[in-house]
Amino acid sequence: MSPADRNSDRAPGARGTRDSGGHGRATAPVPVPDQAARVPVPDQKTGFKSGFVALIGRPNVGKSTLLNRLVGEKMAIVSPRPQTTRTRITGIRLLPTAQIVFVDTPGLHHASSQFGQLMIKAAERAIEDVDVVCLVAEATERGDGIDDEILPRLRSCRAPVYCCLNKVDLAHPKSKVLGLIEAYRARHPFAEIVPISAADGTNCDRLLDLILAAMPERPPYFPADYLTDQPETFFVAEVIREKIFGLTRQEIPYACAVRVTELTERARSECLYVRASIFVEHDSQKGIVIGHGGAMLKRIGAMARGDLERFFGIKVYLDLTVQVRRNWRTNEKALREFGFLLTS
Ligand code: GDP
Ligand code: MG
Repeated sequence: MSPADRNSDRAPGARGTRDSGGHGRATAPVPVPDQAARVPVPDQKTGFKSGFVALIGRPNVGKSTLLNRLVGEKMAIVSPRPQTTRTRITGIRLLPTAQIVFVDTPGLHHASSQFGQLMIKAAERAIEDVDVVCLVAEATERGDGIDDEILPRLRSCRAPVYCCLNKVDLAHPKSKVLGLIEAYRARHPFAEIVPISAADGTNCDRLLDLILAAMPERPPYFPADYLTDQPETFFVAEVIREKIFGLTRQEIPYACAVRVTELTERARSECLYVRASIFVEHDSQKGIVIGHGGAMLKRIGAMARGDLERFFGIKVYLDLTVQVRRNWRTNEKALREFGFLLTS
């Protein structure tokens, strides 16, 4: 491997080979202790279901709160910067007979950046590919405040779209919500309109049942052991991908996948050691991602490391490489390996 292929972006203080003696241990910074016991043994004859759910809606309507309610706090992956990727996996809910994967499609609401058009395309593609879309809005809003930006984008969606009127606990009198339901019904052929409260749980079980009803029968997308202790590797990969999105142009963000191959907490020099590969489709893309004298890869690494250190609260040593994996976007095995199956 040439020197330019590798960017060892070292955290201050995490220097030298002090911990090369193998003091590291595999770690799960967000441990899920009782998950293994609950992991279902998938059996297709029993009709195991698995699918993707997009939670969309304006900022502050309660998407994160709802996600935590539906997923359970422990499995939710909370990002410090939720704005840029096409299919951020935000949480996975395991049920005895189903695996529900929640994804975020933030591009729908952020069209003004220079990547706006690409982002919208990606977000539209993402909602086309999920099995359920939940549009989250507020039960306290007025009927004339309905989101005009988003409804037209839902028309191309083949999946059922549920309208979740959140914060129903704040609606007084409750009869006002009926008017809002009618207003939403008139604007879009929603499969269901459900008043909910993500905060106190009102109707959230019903929403989960509706989501479950729309999930296709198929084996789980992610292997059980991958889920139990690896959700933070999704997060780390997403942070790196977010930087690629921010720093590169045109087709590059879409040609890149990130795979985290090691995430180890090292005791002696107190750092989180992260090894990750960026996969691209062609040699020319590899050159762009590495940049002149490795400059681009350095920037990607430095920015990702900054976010990761803030998130994990510990020094991060990020070892980032770039590899060509031809046609990974059309290769189901590669997609599964990279943690997202629904993007093309
Ligand atoms: P997001 O930007 O869509 O992810 O919204 P958040 O989940 O961050 O929620 C925004 C604010 O609304 C927070 O202060 C939440 O506590 C609050 N919130 C979310 N859901 C509810 C709800 O059902 N009832 C009430 N009263 N507040 C809620
Ligand atoms: Mg949020």
